[in-house]
Amino acid sequence: GLLALSACAGEGAGSGDGGEGGGESQAPEDVLVGVAMPTQTSERWIADGEAVEAGLTEAGYEVDLQFGNDDIPTQAQQIDQMITSGADLLIIGAIDGTALTSQLEAAAAQDIPVISYDRLIRDSEDVDFYVTFDNEQVGVQQATSLLVGLGILNEDGSEGDAEGPFNIELFAGSLDDNNAHFFWQGAIDTLQPYFDDGTLTVPSGQTDIEQAATLRWQQETAQRRMEDLLTSTYSDGTELHGVLSPYDGLSRGIITALQNDGMGPSLEEGLPVVSGQDAEIASVALIDQGVQFATIFKDTRKLADQAVVTAEAYLAGEEPEANDTETYDNGVQVVPSYLLDSDIVYADNIESLLIESEYWSADEVASGV
Ligand code: BGC
Repeated sequence: GLLALSACAGEGAGSGDGGEGGGESQAPEDVLVGVAMPTQTSERWIADGEAVEAGLTEAGYEVDLQFGNDDIPTQAQQIDQMITSGADLLIIGAIDGTALTSQLEAAAAQDIPVISYDRLIRDSEDVDFYVTFDNEQVGVQQATSLLVGLGILNEDGSEGDAEGPFNIELFAGSLDDNNAHFFWQGAIDTLQPYFDDGTLTVPSGQTDIEQAATLRWQQETAQRRMEDLLTSTYSDGTELHGVLSPYDGLSRGIITALQNDGMGPSLEEGLPVVSGQDAEIASVALIDQGVQFATIFKDTRKLADQAVVTAEAYLAGEEPEANDTETYDNGVQVVPSYLLDSDIVYADNIESLLIESEYWSADEVASGV
């Protein structure tokens, strides 16, 4: 029902203050865009929210930016409120990808386009577009970085010198986040040949995503699970060589557990190889110091730009450009998507990937804040 955006003249139209429809005829300053982000506990979402807000403001729109505190009812209420106050378009980074159906129904009833931001909103016909990174590729990169850290592969992808066998443990993200499944799938597909030929083993036997999952991506939860694994599986002297971690916050929890157990403290001193995601500054500093092995850089500035470009298309009554119309089935429809690329960050490319692009400054990398 997006075409109705420019045709609809419901109540409140003409007041010029957001309200129903308007579309092409509406001056940018009369357009209100609601931006709902999941949490402020991870810096990437703060950066995402601020970059989307800045881009929309620059385009002349009014913006209502809210963070959901990782609490599903809070986010649902924030989105209800945006609709009530006359939002013309919604950009949503969901906490729980399955929990917003009634909000989206209300948006659809008023022909408000909904852009799913980074995380796919599931089980709804009322998601119009999805901007994200190639999430399966992110998982492939996470596993690849682990293989590089173990010496099985070289950074250029060629075969490394190490033959193993190596003991690793696996962590997954929050199962209510559709991305967690894509990261996991990409990673496991990449590791599978090495499980099959005995190069890699998971001594705990916890190889199901349900066992590896970390509700709400919480650092403390990952730290506790790592502590439990060390007690249950490694207290007999079994060596641990690597940990697949899908997010920097979890990586830091895992590293803390390992160090508290007497490992490391650095890679050189025997700390297991730990992967990551998001290039959070605290983790980039740890990579620089030789503690965390790698992370995945997803340039959130580019994602924010893509969300703004997509919003502008809808608000001009046009169809936004997608570069993937096959991958992201949300359970009831395949959502047209725009996917961005990501990169593996190692100690030796922090400079070229993060500092030269001004994502982080050299000072920030040195201080970790
Ligand atoms: C995002 C990741 C992030 C994770 C935890 C995922 O949906 O794609 O970039 O690490 O949420 O916030």
